[in-house]
Amino acid sequence: MTIQHSAVRKVFPLLSFIIAIAIGQPALSQQVKKKHHHKKTAAANTALPAFKFKTIIIDPGHGGKDPGAHGAYSKEKNVTLAIAKKLRNALNEQMPSLNTVMTRTTDEFIELHRRDAIASENKGNLFISIHCNSSPEKVSPDRGVLILVYGYHRAGEQLEALRENASIFIEKDYQSKYSGYGKNSAINTIVLSNFQQKYRKECIHFGDLVNHEFKKVDGRHSLGVREQGVLVLQQSAMPAVLIETGYINNPKDEAYLNSAEGQSEIVQSIIRAIKKYRESLEQK
Ligand SMILES: [Zn+2]
Repeated sequence: MTIQHSAVRKVFPLLSFIIAIAIGQPALSQQVKKKHHHKKTAAANTALPAFKFKTIIIDPGHGGKDPGAHGAYSKEKNVTLAIAKKLRNALNEQMPSLNTVMTRTTDEFIELHRRDAIASENKGNLFISIHCNSSPEKVSPDRGVLILVYGYHRAGEQLEALRENASIFIEKDYQSKYSGYGKNSAINTIVLSNFQQKYRKECIHFGDLVNHEFKKVDGRHSLGVREQGVLVLQQSAMPAVLIETGYINNPKDEAYLNSAEGQSEIVQSIIRAIKKYRESLEQK
């Protein structure tokens, strides 16, 4: 039909126009416009850098029926939401060219795999999960920050991952959603997919930047950047880190985590790290 149609077009322009409408092809003038438009888009694309750092996913840990860890007077789910909202507001103000997407903005229960889905649907370039650490004792002797990235782990470094992963046990059908993950079995062997390996370096790089700000600028005690089998980071289609912002059951940390100054310091440290991270990507 197309060949015949182009032959007809040469001889009978009006007939060609009618045929075009009848068979649902764009008329000649529209075709020309379309071609021109394509050219323009192609030119614009070559002028842009190959990668654009555009969207940050902010994931406040826990929520709803999953309170997370407890301090003497505060719950992890409320602290993480407060810090995450401040991070979003400060990013919108200080880095307005970035989009920010939250996995939750209210006190609601969001399944771990759903958090990853939200991140992927919104084409995030970086996933930041905000949490608080805690120790088994009533009052924690431990304090300070810890950054987790998904990946290889050493024995004895799975405690935080196990605690953060425990959220899935109040989800329905967790066995089918998180295959192979059982209540009594730690993830013994982590086989990183190509995809995870691709992002491993970037996760550690961003984790190091955040850790540096917490330590050097805020003077926080730090347990460093560790690779663990954290489920919320496992499926992530982008570089992802989980920030344990402090021990909620350590009295000093709990006061810091609940204070306006403490929350603001945490937020500003994360933003400085994001700026450095973006610069390093743009230099590549
Ligand atoms: Zn947590």
